[in-house]
Amino acid sequence: MKIDLDQAYGPLIDGVFETAGAHRSFAAVDPATGQHLASIRACDEADVDRAVTAAQQAGPAWRALGQQARARLIARLADAIELHGERLARIDAHDVGRCISEVRKDYQTAVRHYRYFAAVIMAHEDSAREIDGGYAIARREPLGVCGQIIPWNAPAIMAAFKLAPALVAGNTVVLKPDENASLSTLELGKLINAIFPAGVVNLVTGQGEVAGAALSQHPAVRKLSFTGSTEVGRIVAGVAAQRLVPATLELGGKSANIVFPDIDDLDAVVDNATFAAIHNNGQSCLAGTRLFVHADIFEAFKQKLVASFQRVRVGSPQDENARVSCLVNARQGQKVLDYINLGIAEGAELLAGGGRAEVAGCEHGFFIEPTLLLADNGMRICQEEIFGPVLSLIVWDDYETLIAQANDTQYGLAAGIYTSNLRHAMDTASRLEAGSVWINRYSNITDGTAFGGYKNSGIGREFCRETLNAYTQVKTITVQAQVPDSWFAPL
Ligand code: NAD
Repeated sequence: MKIDLDQAYGPLIDGVFETAGAHRSFAAVDPATGQHLASIRACDEADVDRAVTAAQQAGPAWRALGQQARARLIARLADAIELHGERLARIDAHDVGRCISEVRKDYQTAVRHYRYFAAVIMAHEDSAREIDGGYAIARREPLGVCGQIIPWNAPAIMAAFKLAPALVAGNTVVLKPDENASLSTLELGKLINAIFPAGVVNLVTGQGEVAGAALSQHPAVRKLSFTGSTEVGRIVAGVAAQRLVPATLELGGKSANIVFPDIDDLDAVVDNATFAAIHNNGQSCLAGTRLFVHADIFEAFKQKLVASFQRVRVGSPQDENARVSCLVNARQGQKVLDYINLGIAEGAELLAGGGRAEVAGCEHGFFIEPTLLLADNGMRICQEEIFGPVLSLIVWDDYETLIAQANDTQYGLAAGIYTSNLRHAMDTASRLEAGSVWINRYSNITDGTAFGGYKNSGIGREFCRETLNAYTQVKTITVQAQVPDSWFAPL
């Protein structure tokens, strides 16, 4: 299917897409084929300033519109994305290199997410309580202009996680997509522009160090929300601390996936653990990249896991049956290969994959074979985020050592457990330092279930009702029936 794109894209500021002019631009390139897709404006501080000003000016009317009207518009956006979802998914498959079957699901998730927040805002009620001779009302008010910065790995979901809660709560937004994956967000901007008043959602394109930094540092931005690496998350957190604005940070992960010897169905667990590690080409913050398998079933499990990895179809992003596709760019591909070699140099045993795969018609692309390494938890490949289709397999037999190792990482985003013993499941879930623990089904995420990190995986929760608290602040209003007796009266 051919996708029609504009030749040039620019920021969306105050309801206008700005593409004209002699500005610096960068290329959007299909990582699989090397095809030039479009050129995109690299916004500078002045562009960001105009976008923030537009958001600031649109704020009062957007807030005054009221919850119900705002929720209706978010629901309309969900309908529009549903209608155009196939096209948007095709754009992402071309722009990011991920399998079309996966990015299609991203849009289904995004649609549900907008609908969830359109609904849940109606139950996000203010509270009131009686005080002596009157009432105290706790009213949640929007924060103002939100500066939102997202990564490239799942543009549909990342944009939905940011926009939906911020907008229903009455904030206006300046969002910066990643420079490796801006096209679908810009096309989403066209849908937004047809539904929302000008200035409510503004998009700034460009480099993180320029446009992203200018956005986070802008004095009129009252809330920061960042998804990306822990390294850049620290920079954004530092800016937020200096500026005394709240920041939601969704950062990296190195999640443990734990298999007990009492599992009922070994094949099903092997299958789910394969998915956990290498879905999204392994370019997923929540990937289960450290697989701890109990010694009693280790040999049988290992054999089936190797076969499972070898069975994975690596193919073009447009191939409906591919399960692993092209990494986002050559730099990321080389980084993943370097990690594989580092692991082998550290003493890990290569059990499957390990190299670059060739895909006909996509010779430009960096495809990595699904790679399985028998490793120790202390190795760098088990401590650092690789962001590619690479799984470290680790054997365990002592439960306390298992728990210590599972928690022995700077990250704490997610974890998986497979067992048929409810007690093992619940005890282990409570001891793992992770924001999400999935028992018997990895990545079991549903709207309304909080998602976010412990430790260096972030601060705050998205995907849930609680997120609305992060996009609002409480104003206490007290009401008395009458003015008190004179202050000068004898006490
Ligand atoms: P990144 O941190 O390099 O970039 C993320 C965004 O930050 C981009 O838009 C980039 O332009 C911008 N940026 C870069 N430097 C900046 C600066 N100095 N100031 C402001 N903005 C700046 O991350 P990435 O490589 O694009 O994404 C992969 C990372 O994202 C991984 O670590 C992954 O785990 C993480 N991630 C986390 C979640 C989550 O929910 N926890 C979800 C998806 C991805």
